[in-house]
Amino acid sequence: MSEFIESEDCACEETYKDEHVWMNIPDKRGRQRVVIIGGGFGGLTLARKLKDENFQIVLIDKSNHHVFQPLLYQVSTAAIEPSTISFPFRNIFRGRECFHIRACEALRVDPEENILYTTIGKLTFDHLVIATGADTNYFGNKNLALYTMALKKTSEALYNRNQILESFELALSTNSAEERQRLMTFVVVGGGATGVELAGALAEMKKFVLPRDYPDLDANLMRIVVVSSSSCLLPAFKEKSSKEAADYLTSRKVELLFNTRVEDFSNGILKLKNGDIHTYNVFWAAGVRANSLEGFDKELYGPGNRLIVDQFNRVKGFDRIYAIGDTAYFPTQKYPNGLPQVAQPAMQQATNIAYNLKKMINSEPLKEFKYFDKGQMATIGKSHAVVEIGSFCFGGILGWLLWLGLHLFYILGVKNRIVIFMDWFLSYLTYSNALQIIVLPLRKKRHTISIRKDEALCSNPVKDSPEIPKAPGNTAS
Ligand SMILES: Cc1cc2nc3c(=O)[nH]c(=O)nc-3n(C[C@H](O)[C@H](O)[C@H](O)COP(=O)(O)OP(=O)(O)OC[C@H]3O[C@@H](n4cnc5c(N)ncnc54)[C@H](O)[C@@H]3O)c2cc1C
Repeated sequence: MSEFIESEDCACEETYKDEHVWMNIPDKRGRQRVVIIGGGFGGLTLARKLKDENFQIVLIDKSNHHVFQPLLYQVSTAAIEPSTISFPFRNIFRGRECFHIRACEALRVDPEENILYTTIGKLTFDHLVIATGADTNYFGNKNLALYTMALKKTSEALYNRNQILESFELALSTNSAEERQRLMTFVVVGGGATGVELAGALAEMKKFVLPRDYPDLDANLMRIVVVSSSSCLLPAFKEKSSKEAADYLTSRKVELLFNTRVEDFSNGILKLKNGDIHTYNVFWAAGVRANSLEGFDKELYGPGNRLIVDQFNRVKGFDRIYAIGDTAYFPTQKYPNGLPQVAQPAMQQATNIAYNLKKMINSEPLKEFKYFDKGQMATIGKSHAVVEIGSFCFGGILGWLLWLGLHLFYILGVKNRIVIFMDWFLSYLTYSNALQIIVLPLRKKRHTISIRKDEALCSNPVKDSPEIPKAPGNTAS
C-alpha cells in the first residue's frame, strides 16, 4: 500500500513512501552503481574523487546543498550570508556524466538484497556509502528539542539569527524590566568548540553591534552564559587552550558554569541541577547523535548510534556497504571512543573508499584506512583562536589568521572565498554586522504533490550488474 509521509527536510512537502516503487534513475549501462547518502564533508569528498567511467554515482541528500557547518555560528550571529556557506549540489557537479542527484531522504537499507528505500522510491546498489552525519541530541527531552536553538543546518542558523535579532527588538519594546532581562539573556549549553565559538560571537555582538545599532538598549543588559557539564571549556583540547578560551571569554564578561547539567527548559526558565536561569534564548550545543540508517542488526550500532566499521570503512560484516564521518564508529588505540566527529575523518575515510573502489575494479589489494590527525582549532573571538597541531599549541592573532586561512581554503568555490573574505574583512574593519535582517518564514499551503502515478519505474536490479571481482583483502570481517 502507498502511504504519504510528511518530511521537514525534503524538497517535496509530501513525499511518497511505497515499498514497491523504484526510484526514477537512468539505467547504469554496465557500470557499477555507487549510491552515496549524504553530501556533507564525507559524501561530497567521495563524489568529487570518484570520477571513474566504471561507476554510476547516485548522490542522495535530504537537502539540495552542501553546508559548511563550521561557519554556521557566523550565520546565526548575522556575520555572514547563508549563501556563502551553502553550495548547491547541482552547481558543484554540473556536467558530470553518469552522475545523478536526488533530493530525498534515505529511510532504511536492506543489506541482504542491496536495496535502499527512500522517500521517493527504492533503488538497488552495487556499493552503498552511508555518510549521513549526525544531528543534535536532546537526550530525549522534548522541551529542549522544541524550545532551544540548534546549529546543524542552514535553516537552524537562520532561525537563530531571527530569534537573536527579534529578542533585541522585543527587549526595546517591552515595559517589563523582567521580560527585558529574559530577552537579553543568552545561554549556550555545551562548552565544546561550537559552544565556545558561538559564545565568542555573541560577546562580539554585545561589545560592537549593540552600542552602535541599538542605542536605546543598554548593552550591559546582555548576559551571555556558557553551561557545561565538563570541568573546563574545550575538553577535547589541551589544558593551555582550554584556559586560553576561558580567560578570553571571561574577559568579555561571558559567565562560565562548569560541572552543571541542564534538566529542562520551559516558560522562559532554564532549569539547571543547581539553580535556574531566566531566559528565552538557549542554544543547544551539547551533543550529537548519528543519523545512521535503519536496517542493520542492533549490534552493528555502536555508541551514539554510529555504525561500526572495519579498517576498510565497511559496515562490519558487509562487503559493499560503507559508513564514514560522523555516522561511523571506528575505535583506534588513540581514539578508543571512535574518531572525533569533525570534518577530517569524514574526508579521509571518503578518500580511502574512492581509492579502494577503483582498486576493486581491477581486483587489486585494498588499502587499510589510517586516520592522520592534522590537529584542531577553534576561534573564540575576533582576532583570537586556539590552534593545536601535533605538540604545538598556540593562540591569539596568529591562531586566528591560520583558522581564517584554512577555513577559506576549505570553502568551495572562488566566488564564495571572495564573498566570505569581503564579509569578514569589512566586519573586522568596521565592527558592523551588515546582515541584521529578520526574515520570518511564510507559511502557505501547497498542493499535494504525487510524485509516482505510473507503474514502477526502472532501476537495474543488482543481479543484472556485472559480477564485482573480489579484491584481496576485501573480505567481510
Ligand atoms: C556548528 C558546527 C561547527 C563545526 N565546526 C567544525 C570545525 O571547526 N572543524 C571541523 O573539523 N568540524 C567541525 N564541525 C563538525 C563537522 O561539520 C562534521 O564532523 C562533519 O560535517 C561530518 O561530516 P559528514 O560527512 O559525516 O556529515 P555531514 O557533513 O553532517 O553531512 C551529512 C549529510 O547527510 C544528509 N543526510 C542526513 N541524513 C540523511 C538521510 N536519511 N537521507 C538523505 N540525506 C541525509 C544531510 O542533509 C547532510 O547533507 C562542526 C559542526 C557543527 C554543527
